[in-house]
Amino acid sequence: MPSFYDDNDDLRWYVDHGIDWEPIVRLTEYDWKAPDGFRSVDEARDFYREVMGLLGTVCAEQIAPRWKELDHSHPHVVDGQVVESAAVTEIFSQLAELGIHGMCLPRELGGMNAPLLVLQLNTEMLARADVSVCAHAGFHGGMALAALMYSVLEGTTTFQQDPPSITATRFRECIDEICSGAAWGSMDITEPDAGSDMAALKTRGVLGADGQWRVTGQKIFITSGHGRWHFVIARTEETDARAGGAAPSGADAFAGLKGLSMFLVPAWDYDEAGNKVMRASFVGVEEKLGHNASATVTISFEDSPAHLIGQRGEGFKYMLLLMNNARVAVGFESLGVAEAAWRAAKQYAAVRPSMGKTIDQHEMIADILDEMQTHIQGIRALGIQAAWHEELNQKLRLALAHFDLPAERRAQLEREQKRHARKSRHLTPLLKWISSEQAVHIARQSVQVHGGSGYIKETGVEKLLRDAMVFPIYEGTSQIQALMVMKDNLLDAVRNPKGFVRRTAQARWRSVSAKDGLEKRVAHLRLESQQAIQFLVSRLAATKLRELRHHRPGDWTELMKDWDPKKDFALAMLHAERLTSMLADAAVAEILWEQGQKDGARRELLVRWLERAEPRSRHMHDLITTTGPRLLSVLAGDTSSHAAAK
Ligand SMILES: Cc1cc2nc3c(=O)[nH]c(=O)nc-3n(C[C@H](O)[C@H](O)[C@H](O)COP(=O)(O)OP(=O)(O)OC[C@H]3O[C@@H](n4cnc5c(N)ncnc54)[C@H](O)[C@@H]3O)c2cc1C
Repeated sequence: MPSFYDDNDDLRWYVDHGIDWEPIVRLTEYDWKAPDGFRSVDEARDFYREVMGLLGTVCAEQIAPRWKELDHSHPHVVDGQVVESAAVTEIFSQLAELGIHGMCLPRELGGMNAPLLVLQLNTEMLARADVSVCAHAGFHGGMALAALMYSVLEGTTTFQQDPPSITATRFRECIDEICSGAAWGSMDITEPDAGSDMAALKTRGVLGADGQWRVTGQKIFITSGHGRWHFVIARTEETDARAGGAAPSGADAFAGLKGLSMFLVPAWDYDEAGNKVMRASFVGVEEKLGHNASATVTISFEDSPAHLIGQRGEGFKYMLLLMNNARVAVGFESLGVAEAAWRAAKQYAAVRPSMGKTIDQHEMIADILDEMQTHIQGIRALGIQAAWHEELNQKLRLALAHFDLPAERRAQLEREQKRHARKSRHLTPLLKWISSEQAVHIARQSVQVHGGSGYIKETGVEKLLRDAMVFPIYEGTSQIQALMVMKDNLLDAVRNPKGFVRRTAQARWRSVSAKDGLEKRVAHLRLESQQAIQFLVSRLAATKLRELRHHRPGDWTELMKDWDPKKDFALAMLHAERLTSMLADAAVAEILWEQGQKDGARRELLVRWLERAEPRSRHMHDLITTTGPRLLSVLAGDTSSHAAAK
């Protein structure tokens, strides 16, 4: 029986050997005290394997074969309601029957109590089958979990200690509907004038004299935005940056977010007779390049009754939580599409004859296939590591919110939670960036390997390229991921120069003195990325250059007291994607090195990764250290560089 789980050796290696399930299962099973819970890691892992095996078969047998039908499924608006194709309706009633939507919800809320990591691994298989189905599925279970997490964080979920169990939670209606498959949620952020620049959001949340919040505004490009439950981000406070309503000019991409709040808004309610009463209107559904079976909806809120989540002004904080999971999910979506593209290319190349042999025996095609596979495996390693840290971060936050813990244990868990949060924050934008960029590249390579057939719709690989093209755009574009990476890494070097110097010295020492040649190469990749950061910090602002170049990194903090990221980061912003590429390459190499320490068979993958990553990293380092000033002077209005060119 075909199965996207059974046929994927690399994916199965993680489930069987590569993932340290213990801390995740322990927390998921309430420290092994959950009623009817698993009592050992092996028992839990057998169950997760079963779930993935089942879904892998559904993906291979029921969803993937319908790709053509799904690609022609354009949802549309009829009488104010969005109508989906029969294929989507059938597939989702089957997924609901399997209980997939409640997979990660606690048992006491009707779920299977599987870890989020299992959901992410399933995301890869679903995306390999069809990315529209995958995206829509994510807006079921993922949104129910978000509703629960929000309620826990704002303190409206109650928990009993013995036996440990959730006794009540604020958004229970939403969670129950999603869990049963009767409804789904969406994440409503983008507006006509505000995409990457969230500070420009105009949707308003207003508290009425009757104590009821109401939301007014239009949200566009909302995936699965035709459902009932909408997490809407809206402006409730006028901050300084908003004075006069104008967008901050020349803005720091992260400024002006303080006046935002998060709401749960039902698009409809039911009257006493059970009839739908619309609270928002579905204005339209987009026609797109790909993701054709996924509804991308414009929705208008007009004084729509809304439930404020947390405190007013905390919207960005709550949004980041939703987005972290969503960005990790895009990593796995990208992986699924890349996996489908690579497998199609490999199969085709093995049978397509040209000039006396099959094309997979031609050197250039063999090289393309090898690079595709290496990238996919490297990104899977990064994705699983990011998901692991993010899950532990979230589960520890829940444990700290709910468990009665002795002070010492609490302090220890708090430290662990912070460490996982830091790791997740570091890895997630690297994953989102490299996975989405590579999914596009790999899908394009697959078209190329298929030659003319790749350009023909019948083959199906051009669909993968169309589907992949949105990954570097939604859930924060590649440029926005790169800005976050750059900002975090440079500020960290400036604020904690001793730590930066220590990490650089360690990488340098390992790169020359490690006994294992592979370890030396891994350390050298890290050293090169550290050197790129050091270069950017020391070149950040022309005005500061004179001061900095004569100082050691250890003295930077003092010198940077009057730091202004908005104007001082220009060169670093220009090179942000290059730095992100270097950091992603180094992060993957380090993860694969760790894997190789535990399982010698993984060293072969590390060798392949380093062979590709080393020249790429050198090239990025060269670009960062030798280009940029000409363009920056053009942007600053200095025309002399134009004149010099003539
Ligand atoms: C199929 C699809 C599904 C989507 N689903 C959702 C959804 O469910 N919910 C939702 O809220 N939104 C959704 N979106 C919207 C998506 O998140 C936005 O399109 C995305 O954030 C980019 O915003 P924008 O389109 O306004 O582009 P802009 O922000 O105008 O960006 C245009 C270009 O400029 C670059 N850019 C912008 N600012 C900077 C900067 N400071 N530095 C460098 N470069 C910059 C961007 O990277 C991009 O390349 C979806 C979009 C699509 C296409």
